[in-house]
Amino acid sequence: MKILVTGGAGFIGSHTVVSLIENGHDVVIVDNFYNASPKVLEYLKEITGKEIPFYEGDVCDKEILRKIFKEHQIDIVIHFAGYKAVGESVQKPIMYYENNLVSTLSLCEVMKENNCKKLVFSSSATVYGSPKELPIKEDSSLHTTNPYGTTKLFNEQILRDIVVADPEWTVVLLRYFNPIGAHESGLIGENPKGIPNNLMPYIVKVALGELECLHIFGNDYATKDGTGVRDYIHVTDLAFGHVKACEKALHDTGALTYNLGTGTGYSVLDLVQTFEKVNNVHIPYQIDPRRSGDIAECYASSTKAETELGFKASKGIEEMCRDAYLFAKKQ
Ligand code: UDP
Repeated sequence: MKILVTGGAGFIGSHTVVSLIENGHDVVIVDNFYNASPKVLEYLKEITGKEIPFYEGDVCDKEILRKIFKEHQIDIVIHFAGYKAVGESVQKPIMYYENNLVSTLSLCEVMKENNCKKLVFSSSATVYGSPKELPIKEDSSLHTTNPYGTTKLFNEQILRDIVVADPEWTVVLLRYFNPIGAHESGLIGENPKGIPNNLMPYIVKVALGELECLHIFGNDYATKDGTGVRDYIHVTDLAFGHVKACEKALHDTGALTYNLGTGTGYSVLDLVQTFEKVNNVHIPYQIDPRRSGDIAECYASSTKAETELGFKASKGIEEMCRDAYLFAKKQ
């Protein structure tokens, strides 16, 4: 299959490109480097041994998309490109809605013009809001608490409506839990700009001595040690989930939704202690008040992805902590 990957130079996108190529597929990337480095393309070549066709541009721009579809026979699109910072989305909602929705609309329009009707969409467990049941199943109620999350939910709805209007379409909505880790080569990984908002990038910067100490947001939740519990999934496992989703999309039609998580929750302290052990470093921390908008606990039911996609995450938090640090030390 030939697969167009939007946002293919980003954290999850780049790992997915590697996994697609390892599984025998051809890939074309479009990325505007808003939140990624051009160097990732060199590393992708080093890891895969392949020259991957690349287009620099914005997915909102239909002309670049038309050029790509003219030059390549695309079977499936995986759509990662989008803004992803929760806090920034609260400050700049217009920017988030415009970019994250117009890109999907432009993409679907150009796909339709070219009779390419298979799309895998990068959604998020954030669409579940504060979960009413654990583990979270795909048919749980949906509710978002910030513009970033709402763009994911709106995009899901747009794509479901496209399938209703034309049943020849297949959309696979993948709801990610908490992707961390990096490729085992240490060449590609997560490298957020500025002070990280997410837990693992923050821990990594403390380990490197770039930040003084980790601030743990609350230790009074109703969890095993009082700190927040999440379903961390190794990014290379998550990437392979996209290969499975593409294979499913090839033979199916309709709107299909899957959680991509491990099904196991770990607390902030679990992650800190595992990181210290496997990397032989000390992570000083202090307990701060809860972060507004945070939920106590969130982990996936992974049964549907297992039975329908044949996808099961295989890597544990030790590997996630080791690989995240290996990548960070190489930066
Ligand atoms: N967290 C923390 N300190 C940080 C960043 C995150 O204690 O500097 C906690 C946060 O409260 C949550 C967990 O780590 O319980 C995961 O947070 P992250 O932002 O990585 O993911 P999300 O909350 O979006 O699932």
